[in-house]
Amino acid sequence: MLDLLKVPSISAKSEHKEDMKKTAELVTQRLLEAGADKAEVMPTEGHPVVYAEKIIDPSKPTVLVYGHYDVQPPDPLDLWKSPPFEPVIKDGKVYARGSADDKGQFFMHVKAMETLVKTNSMTTNMKFLIEGEEEVGSPNLAKFVADNKKLLKADVILISDSAMISLENPSLDIGVRGLAYIQVEVTGPNRDLHSGTYGGAVSNPITILAKMIASCHDENNHITIPGFYDDVVEAKPDERKMMNQAPFDEKEYKADLGVNELWGEKGFTTIERTGIRPTLELNGIWGGYQGEGSKTVLPSKASAKISARLVPNQSSKKITKLLLDYFKKIAPPGVSVNAFELHGGEPYMTPIESKAYQAAAKAIEATFGKKPIPVRGGGSIPICSILEKELGIKIVFMGFGLDSDNLHSPNEKFELKNFYKGIETIPYFHKYFAEMSS
Ligand SMILES: [Zn+2]
Repeated sequence: MLDLLKVPSISAKSEHKEDMKKTAELVTQRLLEAGADKAEVMPTEGHPVVYAEKIIDPSKPTVLVYGHYDVQPPDPLDLWKSPPFEPVIKDGKVYARGSADDKGQFFMHVKAMETLVKTNSMTTNMKFLIEGEEEVGSPNLAKFVADNKKLLKADVILISDSAMISLENPSLDIGVRGLAYIQVEVTGPNRDLHSGTYGGAVSNPITILAKMIASCHDENNHITIPGFYDDVVEAKPDERKMMNQAPFDEKEYKADLGVNELWGEKGFTTIERTGIRPTLELNGIWGGYQGEGSKTVLPSKASAKISARLVPNQSSKKITKLLLDYFKKIAPPGVSVNAFELHGGEPYMTPIESKAYQAAAKAIEATFGKKPIPVRGGGSIPICSILEKELGIKIVFMGFGLDSDNLHSPNEKFELKNFYKGIETIPYFHKYFAEMSS
């Protein structure tokens, strides 16, 4: 793994194009050494994809491992205690960019396959799809998957690109939220006006925009936009009960954020608010004079960036339209509203009763000695819904990282204990998934 970590495979920067190729070649070599029947670097419009397979018996179930060999830029460099692409092992941790996200994590699957091949104990066919553009939004993966459906045919997708609560409290992610992101622009008078001469006589776009935004939540912090919750699939009581078993110290949470009170939708805990509930957030707002000192102006225009996190079964397209229509509809006379979409992605969910989740939970139990806590991630991974749609199969998230791994930050690390625990646990997933599929 260390040689993989030495190559700066930064997908966002064009000067690393050769490093991307080099990393893809290295991954291919490692897969072949681990016993893959074939492994190849496949071109896309952007950085190449690595595909590999080990087919033991076409009648057996096939597990497709998805991962990514690209990494985030390491900046700011001066905050790293050791150079980001010179991996160092210290106190049982590997420090390097990509150690946890995701080179170290997909490499657990390469090692797991090697063990299974060596001990002649493979129970499933294995395929690998390791891409090089995850950190830049996977712009070419949807097309690659659509063009290679037959090659990628499998019964389940396995992804290790996330964290668990801790080795003492193992958890499995069962979902990610979707996203609908829009920009709203409110225009009043045809030019910035003197606030003394005109103030009080003409609508102020900033005031109007602030009122429009404030109207999006009621006194219980529910979202008021008509139809917003229509398609939400409520989490079942037993799922809510299980997710609330995750250790959560509200006092520590508040202290870490420097706030003396938490905020959120009435009737839900903080864990629920950031996992199973849709939310609406203001990401930016601007207008009028923002320079030093004062300028008495009644601005012509005010703008905001607004995003909603979505849960199953909400559709990003539908919610985007709902938001755009809402802001246009509630605009009072005297201003005009221009609202448009920025980007979006669909939510994704692996139900706990699915075979895929059950096999993963049983594998965790086999090596950790306790059942994993199912948790829902608050973030969004748009590629998940695309993979499911194109291949028609479920995704299992088996992340062995920790929240403290400094993903995307200086001093990224991956704990060796977690790395080995992953290699130990993954074969059990294959075993149980094969058993449950027969
Ligand atoms: Zn990642």
